[in-house]
Amino acid sequence: MRLLPPCTPKFATRRRPERETFGLEVIAAGVALGQPFMPWQRDAAMLGGEIDQETGLPAYRELVITVPRQQGKTVLHVSFQGQRCTSPRWAQPQRSAFTAQSGKDARDKWLDEIFPLLRRSKKIRPLIRRIYEGMGNEYVAFRNGSLIRLLSTSTSSGHSKTLHQAVLDEIWHDADWRREQGLRPAMLTVADAQLLSCSTAGTAASVVLNRKVEAGRKAVAADTGRGIAYIEYSAPDGWDPDDEGSYFGFMPALCPAPPCRCGDGKWRHTVTLDVIRSERASMEPAEFARAYGNVPDKSGEGNRSPFDVALWRSARTRSRGWLAGWHWVSRCARTCRRRRSRSAGAGWMGWVTGSWLITARARGGWWAGWWSWRPGGIRV
Ligand SMILES: [Zn+2]
Repeated sequence: MRLLPPCTPKFATRRRPERETFGLEVIAAGVALGQPFMPWQRDAAMLGGEIDQETGLPAYRELVITVPRQQGKTVLHVSFQGQRCTSPRWAQPQRSAFTAQSGKDARDKWLDEIFPLLRRSKKIRPLIRRIYEGMGNEYVAFRNGSLIRLLSTSTSSGHSKTLHQAVLDEIWHDADWRREQGLRPAMLTVADAQLLSCSTAGTAASVVLNRKVEAGRKAVAADTGRGIAYIEYSAPDGWDPDDEGSYFGFMPALCPAPPCRCGDGKWRHTVTLDVIRSERASMEPAEFARAYGNVPDKSGEGNRSPFDVALWRSARTRSRGWLAGWHWVSRCARTCRRRRSRSAGAGWMGWVTGSWLITARARGGWWAGWWSWRPGGIRV
């Protein structure tokens, strides 16, 4: 039999065992939900729950977790939210928010996966006063006054409410910071607030996630023990997606010997090689590498127009008319610069036969962009 690689994170903030942690309570929430944690989830809970001895507050205000698809992210964040809303550790009733890439995605996830988990749980169900599924106003109200709310991603969604915890699910979809900007103000004055971001790798357009990965890796290296706690499981550099043995090195929920007895009845791996294999057969190689190798798909980066449609949408929410156009082109140029093209910048801009025309230098060449009823761009 071939020796399988041990599953270890590629980057992870060092656990400080001398610190108190509420991780055990998060782990207990997983058990109460009937989803006992796999070792990687335990590690994440113990790290994310660390308490700073000096302040008595959570040591990490932000927890960023990036793992391949189907590894148990959902159970992990719901357990964090369950702990927040039920543990006597938190003095007053807590407010927790869940957001996904869209309000509909958030709703689907809770209706299909999470509400049923909560309803089935003999331990958590009695603590809940009400689960409300009304469209656009979904929430879980606990008897102690704590509340989990599903928020839409528009800018106003988090405003004027106090938040003790927010979950940003699948942030690789985000091409701008609107989602976080909507939530952060409500957490500003909350000393023990925590922000949880969970996601699989994205593309070159995943501006938010790519920045968080960069910041997270830096935080791991700096090892200050506060700020951002970061955990990343992903395929090694130069990975060959056909090498199935390699999967065991970075998919922490993948069972090496199904049917799973790895956890001695205490926990179970949740994915088998057959599942991953059939996913690989049905997906484009770059998409498979992104979803299951957790490697960003930057294949289109070199040739894709810097005039990004997602950025256009966000520019248009800030301003109208020619000003929106100006915001758009300057943001496109800024994004190019961040991706380390040799030079980038906006050039000429003018009104030509009913549409705005702009030129910009990016990715080693000149591009022409336009927008009239829709934005576009080509290399010239
Ligand atoms: Zn197993």
